[in-house]
Amino acid sequence: MQRSEIEEMPARTQSELYRELPSVDELLRSTELKETVARSGATAVTDATRMVLERLRREIAEGRLDASGLQAELKRLPEIIELELKESFSFSLRPVINATGVILHTNLGRAPLSSEALNHIQKIAAGYSSLEFDLATGERGKRDVHVQRLLGRLLKSHAPSDYDVNTVVVNNCAAAVMLALNTLAEGGEVIVSRGELVEIGGSFRVPEIMAKSGATLREVGTTNRTRIADYERAINEKTRLLLRVHRSNFAIVGFTEQPAVEELVALGRKHNIPVMEDLGNGAIFDLHAVGIQTESGVRESLEAGIDIITYSGDKLLGGPQAGLISGRREVLARIRSNPLFRALRVDKLTYAALEATLLAYLREDYDAVPTVRMMRLSAEGIKRRADEMAARLPRKQFELEVIAGESVIGGGTAPTATLPTFVLSLASTLLGPAELQKRLREHDAPIVVRIEEDRIRIDLRTVSPEHDAVIIDALLSIR
Ligand SMILES: *Cc1c(COP(=O)(O)O)cnc(C)c1O
Repeated sequence: MQRSEIEEMPARTQSELYRELPSVDELLRSTELKETVARSGATAVTDATRMVLERLRREIAEGRLDASGLQAELKRLPEIIELELKESFSFSLRPVINATGVILHTNLGRAPLSSEALNHIQKIAAGYSSLEFDLATGERGKRDVHVQRLLGRLLKSHAPSDYDVNTVVVNNCAAAVMLALNTLAEGGEVIVSRGELVEIGGSFRVPEIMAKSGATLREVGTTNRTRIADYERAINEKTRLLLRVHRSNFAIVGFTEQPAVEELVALGRKHNIPVMEDLGNGAIFDLHAVGIQTESGVRESLEAGIDIITYSGDKLLGGPQAGLISGRREVLARIRSNPLFRALRVDKLTYAALEATLLAYLREDYDAVPTVRMMRLSAEGIKRRADEMAARLPRKQFELEVIAGESVIGGGTAPTATLPTFVLSLASTLLGPAELQKRLREHDAPIVVRIEEDRIRIDLRTVSPEHDAVIIDALLSIR
């Protein structure tokens, strides 16, 4: 008897609690919300009010709100609704501080743009521009020219003498691959090594892009070893293209073999079949100079005589999201006349950002491009900043250590390449590492950090120096 009473109690109180909740209409008509409605409009306030009441109902149902708790919430209901309203009018795409040391962090938007790129975007986007207008003749122009002329200058001296380099821009590298395959190989065959049938970033899979492009994949060799003879044997009257796909996010080590790019180019020449490389990374500076030995960039592919190269704008190039196709003028002319090119083209914001980024390379001002600047930072310079940060944090609250570590390039680029760095390794005396990580993420300026060996790791390589103080303040504010 007594037992069943206890069991029924919550149900009874629950329905009583539900009855305490005012209706949306009552709330909207209340004097407290009148001003809010006038300011933000009835629709938004109604939505926010519904959300708040639903949340309270849920909390009651889950037994997380008792009578006194509910009274407290009801008293500050207008305030809660205001907060909900503010949240509903705020951006969900927000800047974050990347303290992971992963330079091209795909989830965090890959390459940050240079200040020149941002200024140029602002000027171009705020008004009208010469996007497709030739100011010299007053006639219709082509949007390509803005990038084409700069990449022509940057790449010309790296191409063989019979090679006139042309470039087009599309939405991303996946689109560039799709467009190139469709233009050059629709209805025909493309020969690819089994060691290069890769998946990059989840949804970019070479066999699937190939199928969508209308070309037939002709696999040769094995996962670990493919010889030039394997390619040659597969060539037939339907072969349209020899494709090399860069192993952007993994490495095959051990008993391996892959023909040199030069061999592939020579084979293509012999049979009069173009050779394409899906390079991805898009580096147009000397990677060896920043200590990356395992990767090569666009210039090296041109030097080897590759006929058509696809790469991303927002990987090692350090520009906006885009896919670039550089190659021989004849090949690019065919790509330009494909209707798919029109469907995949990019807007003036992208051209503005690319133009400003490429100009920095022409000036050889590598530090103007944030991703390149980050790669060029010395481990000692990073250590100094980490030491300063450590000195400003109280030992009572944190266990701290500045230790040697490795920054990674990321973004499906240079899988085995790392850069020596120093990281601030810390544990809170009050919170566990996962909780500390969460609190940093919830900070006004969200801070993203890695956890390793039960410690938060802060790598300042990917943090711009003016944010060091923000991280310190965030850590100090966590109790
Ligand atoms: C990153 C990458 C892609 C995909 O590039 P998106 O710009 O993300 O579309 C394709 N191929 C290679 C080799 C890559 O490294």
